[in-house]
Amino acid sequence: MNTGKKNNKEGWQQALQNAIRSPKELLKTLELEPKNTQAYDPKRTEFPLLVPHSFVKRMRKRDPKDPLLLQVLPTKKEQLSVPGFTRNPLLETSFITNGVVKKYLSRALLLATEACPVHCRYCFRRFFPYSNNLASTGNWENALAELGNTDETREVILSGGDPLSLSNRRLEELITKIELLKNITTLRVHTRFPVILPNRVDNGLLKLFSRKKLKIVVVIHSNHAQEIDESVYDSMQALSSTGTHLFNQSVLLRDVNDNASQLEALSRKLFESSVIPYYLNILDPVEGSAHFEVDINKAKQLIKELRQRLPGYLVPRLVREIPGELSKKIIA
Ligand code: SF4
Repeated sequence: MNTGKKNNKEGWQQALQNAIRSPKELLKTLELEPKNTQAYDPKRTEFPLLVPHSFVKRMRKRDPKDPLLLQVLPTKKEQLSVPGFTRNPLLETSFITNGVVKKYLSRALLLATEACPVHCRYCFRRFFPYSNNLASTGNWENALAELGNTDETREVILSGGDPLSLSNRRLEELITKIELLKNITTLRVHTRFPVILPNRVDNGLLKLFSRKKLKIVVVIHSNHAQEIDESVYDSMQALSSTGTHLFNQSVLLRDVNDNASQLEALSRKLFESSVIPYYLNILDPVEGSAHFEVDINKAKQLIKELRQRLPGYLVPRLVREIPGELSKKIIA
């Protein structure tokens, strides 16, 4: 029915609204039998499935082991209780004031939103208490006061959730305020949007990232070469054309990307797309993700193999986050 109302949503917002939100629908789209997948449907409040069609299109049909599917499909393995895997693995709430996480000396992380373009089953913030800890509370003012109160802080990292879930108007409002802080020279954006919903990189965002007051660094999050299709490539080219520096961080995930050939293919695909592989993160031990864990010796061996196969600038650093440390710990 045409109500005569204008639809004001951007293309990416509409795509997010139409995203798949139930295992049943996802499995049907991929022509998979539920009995072959151990799928289960978490309650709405417990990190339910969320995946846009644009990402599902890059999954193989009738393959329960597809590496993209494994990252987003809730399975019964999540219900296992495994010692050492907790709801707050990085103890982040101890380092947050007014939505700003201050763990490192020169960088501060601003929790811009709880919304994401996809729910990654291994996400260390899947149980994070966003409602008490967002920087958007009070129209950013308290968070900005935190960022501006020390000359040590030179770089603001927009995180979440995914900060590109904010509309361009809201992002512009925030970036304009950050630009006024004299101590801040660099704005870093941690985002999975350009990989999951590449049309998020629209003209409004490009215009915003073309502003020259701050150096802009975008760290995307891709775990597998199969995620990078032509639309992702195009979005990276567009971002790169604004002078934005592009890096990628991945999480090492069992059965998704834990072999040297897959990691090599990912690094090469990223480089073709003007993105430098930056970190390969050891899984943070969040409850429900133990089935993704890769043995640490295997992880080190993978990096050794990558060093033989790739030039040094395409080998990501194998890192682990340790609560209370002043930087990520480099393992290899
Ligand atoms: S997009 Fe990032 S923050 Fe959101 S669920 Fe995935 S890993 Fe977590």
